[in-house]
Amino acid sequence: MKEIDYDRAEYVTNREVENDEGEKTGRVKMFSYDNEEYYYEMECPYCSNEWEDSQELGQRPWWIECPECTRSINVNRIKDAKKKEIKNRGPDADLDDVDVT
Ligand SMILES: [Zn+2]
Repeated sequence: MKEIDYDRAEYVTNREVENDEGEKTGRVKMFSYDNEEYYYEMECPYCSNEWEDSQELGQRPWWIECPECTRSINVNRIKDAKKKEIKNRGPDADLDDVDVT
């Protein structure tokens, strides 16, 4: 994955992704400079396939299909746990959705 320029990034995330059983078996790193095209590196929670790509993502929820097992992965779902935190941050929540390790 290419280097992230954090000064330019409008969105950065790096999270574990749950499968249907709620087990954190996958992972996603994703960033965007314009909130339109998102670059991501994904580990599929269903089949452990790893790949990276970029695509335009519109309104949430975001679904990214695994090229290996063709299951759709909901990237937005993980945000639920952070809902309260984001709410407290006010209207710029999307920009503050930064979860960098
Ligand atoms: Zn898969």
